[in-house]
Amino acid sequence: MKLLQVDIDTQSGFCFGVVYAIEMAEEILDEQGYLYCLGDIVHNDEEVKRLAQKGLKIIDHGDLYGLRDEKVLIRAHGEPPSTYKLAIQNNLTLIDASCPVVLKLQNRIKNSFDKQEPIYIYGKHGHAEVIGLLGQTDNKAVVFQDINELDLPSLPKNLTLYSQTTKSTGKFYEIHQTLRDNGIEVNVNDTICRQVSNRDKELREFVSRYDKVIFVSGTKSSNGKVLYQVCKERNDQTYFVSSPSEIQSDWFTLGDRVGICGATSTPMWLMEEVKERILTF
Ligand code: SF4
Repeated sequence: MKLLQVDIDTQSGFCFGVVYAIEMAEEILDEQGYLYCLGDIVHNDEEVKRLAQKGLKIIDHGDLYGLRDEKVLIRAHGEPPSTYKLAIQNNLTLIDASCPVVLKLQNRIKNSFDKQEPIYIYGKHGHAEVIGLLGQTDNKAVVFQDINELDLPSLPKNLTLYSQTTKSTGKFYEIHQTLRDNGIEVNVNDTICRQVSNRDKELREFVSRYDKVIFVSGTKSSNGKVLYQVCKERNDQTYFVSSPSEIQSDWFTLGDRVGICGATSTPMWLMEEVKERILTF
């Protein structure tokens, strides 16, 4: 036995947006026995599997076109206006679990679009939330995930900058500074969710107290990638895992203090399973 001391970060686990979406889904699953959900309800395969066993059916936009007279859950990432129009055409009842933080951002972007501002969104191409944001602008806003994608000399001299809710605050402000350094006046809107940006600080403090850190997250989670980097920068003995089976005994030495933490899409039950596995070493 390696006599490891293992703690789970009590601040990790689902953010309120994800809790709300899963509670809504489970309520209907208990009543109806099944429910369609447009896209993965959360970027965590283990939690998706758990809900699939209760009857959650994940569909994509192609499936939505062929669906009629059903209830469909909209997950926390939100959807563009075209999805709501399609739901009316197909007599679908949308159970809207869009996170209030995302809905507020969609409204702000829509207001900027109505005022004809040139809109730039720092976000991941093709990410569901970003598709929902772009939809507020008839797909006219510019999305970029790296400042190098922008041709700085040809940008408008005044522009409005937004961010996907799960981006890194540090990188967002670096982008703002680069734009300003290039003579661009930026109407800057820091729309990064505080559930993510505040977790940065808490995680830095948490991981610095441990010899080894196990960061638990699905590989598709954007904030999982950001928060893992935060942990890794502060404690280079940080390992990324998606399930307990990926953990290797030779990562640990006798008497190590091990901290377990995760993304806003990581269920607490999964971190507890990770802890149980580590305690077998
Ligand atoms: S990370 Fe923030 S914006 Fe995203 S679902 Fe959670 S609470 Fe909502």
